[in-house]
Amino acid sequence: MSKQPVMLIGAGIGGLTCALALQRAGIAVKVYEQAPELGEVGAGLTLSPNGSKALMGLGLESELAELADPPSYQAVHHYQTGQVLVRRERGDLTTRQYGAPYYQIHRADLHDMLGDAVRANDPDCIVLGHEFQRFAQDANGVTAWFANGNSASGRVLVGCDGVKSPVRSQMHEQEAPNFTGYVAWRGLAPAAKVPAEAVDPPSGTYIGPGHLFVRYLIRGGETVNYVAFVERDDWQVESWSQRSTVKEVLDEFSEFHGLVRAIIGATPPELCYKWGLFSRRPLESWSLGRVALLGDAAHPTLPFMGMGAVMAIEDGVVLARCMADSGSVSEAFKRYEAARVERTTLVMLESGEIIHRFFAPDTERFAERNNRNEESLGLFRYDAWQVPV
Ligand SMILES: Cc1cc2nc3c(=O)[nH]c(=O)nc-3n(C[C@H](O)[C@H](O)[C@H](O)COP(=O)(O)OP(=O)(O)OC[C@H]3O[C@@H](n4cnc5c(N)ncnc54)[C@H](O)[C@@H]3O)c2cc1C
Repeated sequence: MSKQPVMLIGAGIGGLTCALALQRAGIAVKVYEQAPELGEVGAGLTLSPNGSKALMGLGLESELAELADPPSYQAVHHYQTGQVLVRRERGDLTTRQYGAPYYQIHRADLHDMLGDAVRANDPDCIVLGHEFQRFAQDANGVTAWFANGNSASGRVLVGCDGVKSPVRSQMHEQEAPNFTGYVAWRGLAPAAKVPAEAVDPPSGTYIGPGHLFVRYLIRGGETVNYVAFVERDDWQVESWSQRSTVKEVLDEFSEFHGLVRAIIGATPPELCYKWGLFSRRPLESWSLGRVALLGDAAHPTLPFMGMGAVMAIEDGVVLARCMADSGSVSEAFKRYEAARVERTTLVMLESGEIIHRFFAPDTERFAERNNRNEESLGLFRYDAWQVPV
């Protein structure tokens, strides 16, 4: 294939993973990011073994071991009594079972790790302050235009530009996102300010009718990351960065166990955010000529299984492998879609379904209906480096 660079739009977790995988395959790449500086929101992320394995294959094993936390076990608790409804062993057992650890990590730490690795290979790879506006393509390549008046050309363009992807909007008819009826809060609380029992186990979920509270430790146990979900029918904005108040979360979770409320109560006001969850239909095709999609741009995934970023990471590795092994762009994209669309569509659909099992009124019977989850579906077994492409 030609030596012109692959152009990636968006330096999020998916775009940076893909950039690093392309660099490792010896393929020229440029990443165009709208933000003036590289950065991520203040929140945690779970990396299931399939995600850790993809990152370890990029040479990030020691960085992950240093910056990410492997929980020894996870539990699902009854929202009022705190009774353990389901317990899942993690730690060494999970590593042995799947060949890579289950991790919890601060998004900014993962993002920095990826950005540093990309820049170590090529200090000019990431071009900041470039808000993509539109593309045009012909048989020889693609040109992208940016809001600052610049343009750039490459052999292909990949939209890694997130859930509101402008690249996807140009490829597909405008589709209005649907409000799902779910609202979420995210917060970070200092672990030192909550009772020790509130973070034991290091990863815990509290479920109740129409309510879900997920919390886990990051940054060596210093910080408690949480996400709290409720059903609500009055929402307009699709944004992760809308400020909330601790009181609002406490009011929503007034019937929850004291240990949950202790965590919410310990949130510094500036670290409490809320947002509405919107869904989009799965796409059957992610490419158009020399343009393709990756990550949330291709398959926006509700966060109830904690799999969206991990799917973007897998996409990045698989796309780079397809680009490296194919004689033409059309062949590379065909192989990429054949390897990825079915799996990510399953994750999108299952992520939308699992919340009904968490939110059901008979909380105490949760274990009986916990037969379809990310682990039982076999999602952890995937190896982005070995899957046939
Ligand atoms: C609260 C919450 C918790 C989550 N928890 C987990 C979890 O535990 N585990 C997990 O695997 N997933 C989780 N997810 C999902 C995960 O965060 C996303 O799936 C993931 O961030 C997608 O990565 P991405 O690179 O595709 O998109 P993004 O991270 O959204 O990155 C897109 C990038 O594109 C840039 N961009 C956008 N428009 C333009 C433009 N016009 N020009 C140039 N650049 C542009 C953006 O600035 C951004 O840098 C969670 C999501 C939420 C909301």
